[in-house]
Amino acid sequence: MHELTSEAPISGPQGSSDALLRLIADSVPALMAYFDLPGLRCQFANQGYAAYNGHSVASIVGLTVQEAIGTKAWLAIQPYIERSTRGEHVKYMREQTIPSGESRMIEVNLIPHFSPQKQQLGSFVLITDITDRWQAESTVRQSEERMRKFTEITDEAILFHRDGLITDGNDALTRLTGYTLPEVMGLSIFNFISHEWRAVAYEYTRAGREDPYEVTIRHKDGHTIPVEVVGKTMPQLHADYRVVVVRDITARKEAQERETFLALHDTLTQLPNRRFLMEQLGKVLSMARRRKFMVAVLFINLDHFKTVNDSLGHHAGDQLLCDVAERLRQSVRDTDLVARLSGDEFVAVLTDIHTPDDAAMVADKLIETMRSAFTVGNLPLTMSPSIGISLFPGDDTTVQGLLRCADTAMYHAKDSGRGNRQFYQPGMDVHATDVLQQERQLREAIASNAFVLHYQPQICLADGSLKGFEALVRWRHPERGLVGPDEFITFSESRGLITPIGRWVTHEACRQLKAWQDEGLAMVPVAVNLSALEFRQRDVAGELAAVLHATGLEPRFLEIELTESVLMHHTGQVLETLNAIKALGVGVTIDDFGTGYSSLAYLKRYPIDKLKIDRSFVMDTPQSADDVAIVTAIIQMGHSLQLKTVAECVETAEQKELLHRLGCDLVQGFLVSAPMDAQATQRWLSPQG
Ligand code: C2E
Ligand code: MG
Ligand code: MG
Repeated sequence: MHELTSEAPISGPQGSSDALLRLIADSVPALMAYFDLPGLRCQFANQGYAAYNGHSVASIVGLTVQEAIGTKAWLAIQPYIERSTRGEHVKYMREQTIPSGESRMIEVNLIPHFSPQKQQLGSFVLITDITDRWQAESTVRQSEERMRKFTEITDEAILFHRDGLITDGNDALTRLTGYTLPEVMGLSIFNFISHEWRAVAYEYTRAGREDPYEVTIRHKDGHTIPVEVVGKTMPQLHADYRVVVVRDITARKEAQERETFLALHDTLTQLPNRRFLMEQLGKVLSMARRRKFMVAVLFINLDHFKTVNDSLGHHAGDQLLCDVAERLRQSVRDTDLVARLSGDEFVAVLTDIHTPDDAAMVADKLIETMRSAFTVGNLPLTMSPSIGISLFPGDDTTVQGLLRCADTAMYHAKDSGRGNRQFYQPGMDVHATDVLQQERQLREAIASNAFVLHYQPQICLADGSLKGFEALVRWRHPERGLVGPDEFITFSESRGLITPIGRWVTHEACRQLKAWQDEGLAMVPVAVNLSALEFRQRDVAGELAAVLHATGLEPRFLEIELTESVLMHHTGQVLETLNAIKALGVGVTIDDFGTGYSSLAYLKRYPIDKLKIDRSFVMDTPQSADDVAIVTAIIQMGHSLQLKTVAECVETAEQKELLHRLGCDLVQGFLVSAPMDAQATQRWLSPQG
């Protein structure tokens, strides 16, 4: 190249190679020249280069760089030329105003030329006009600038990356990740994505997908953050340049998790619920099948929980359930499961046990754990659970089947005196059909009025005169004969059948007493028992008024007996109802007094006429000093509140004498008379009877 001549003629297509080179050099859209060393004189320039500097290809040859391009330009580029003369390939961009006044952006390459002995002989100059490309890029730069301003006002983290390498990001990105922008610049976006999510992110990036996806990223301090990511390929530029919006979805995830938790847990005790239990037990069973281990399902029901709920209110009941849940949870291994099915029903699943004895041991431990008193609303309370146990694979191999077996066994535990545990045995299932059959029979009894009332007299201790009757219901059972209320009242309540029975009892008692009175017998009141549930659910005052009206009985001849539990409940409503009953002229007695949790405060608040001392305190008098003390206290308390006291289940003369001495007003019991049917009562009442 260093022997170039400026104007070699071209003689046809086969002309000299110099002429061909000249043709090529003048045709390319670039400015080209060659300057030698050490003088930096021009040896060659194409037409473009010469013309650009105001020369011809002939006149420029031999000029120094300074002469060729002018002093002003020389001063501007001198440092580059010096670097080039030291053998460096120099590349730079320069804005240049061309003679037309237009501003162009050029890219200059100074390429050193060496001899085979590595001695620098000169430098090629290659100048290309990059105005168009530069303008395109500056448009992008401006739009990036606009984007940057936009990204700074949003709370969402935004970053730009090219081929996965971060080129920019906003403040929110710094806040989200804990890294400063300089720390992340040039790093791969995949570095920040948790390991297990990298493949997903990589796939989205590779495919240029623009729909949102979720991954977790790692904060600088190590914690992970769930995020939603949307990547968009930037227009104007090649496809691998992307802007990515990263949204922190921790709150949303937490809400989702909370929702899932709620769907699978009982809100009161936070224990797993029925759904969770079914799912989990299913998994446990399939594992037990594979690994061949035994599983026990314990169905746990609290004895007399309803009494607590009725006496102390739902709030106390709830607290007790939470405490019970906690004790159950702490009594099993971490790998076992305790769930609450409903009300006072819990289930424990014991995994990986070896013999039925293991299950028995846990059940005994649960019963033992419950034995120490709970404190509910400052009152110490004891609870006993009845537990039914079924075993996989012996009793059943399905979730439903095991639960059913354990439930059946639990009923047997209740029947065997409560507070104990029973293993499932095949014959037990009969019980379940019993329940259904009993419910059906009871419905039939209601439809056909298959009930009778027995009447038990109440006597004044002072003079032995008759002061009233208590009406006690019996069921005329098709197979079993007369069935006592203890066997069907609670059951009726649980099946929603108590209301029609209670209505019949009230009406029949009033009708019968009125009939006797019309014959000149029994000018004393009849007392009717109302269960707490009836009292809450029915418009008691309204219905009593209607019954009195329908039967024509004077209100002063009717009394109702309520258990203490009624008084602890919905104070306002109870007071209103009791006042309405009093306003009718109907008497109110508190039955089974002393078994609930009533205090003087309760009693003072309500319009009550009589306290009926519970049979459990009467039965062992006068032998039991404790019971004598209790009965004494109740009688004194009653009197101080201007209430009459009645002792029930008085069977012996000694009891009667003691009660008389203690100042009790009335007695009722076998000593006077057992409850009698209407006919017997009528005979008992008749002067000749
Ligand atoms: P309660 O109101 O305390 O009735 C007294 C219970 O003691 C009656 O049992 C009665 O037969 C029994 N009894 C009476 N005297 C003696 C005695 O000297 N010794 C012994 N050991 N027992 C005696 P019953 O008739 O089986 O009634 C049981 C409970 O069923 C009643 O207890 C009452 O709470 C409830 N009940 C009875 N009739 C009705 C009714 O019509 N409606 C509602 N809701 N409950 C009723
Ligand atoms: Mg009673
Ligand atoms: Mg009683």
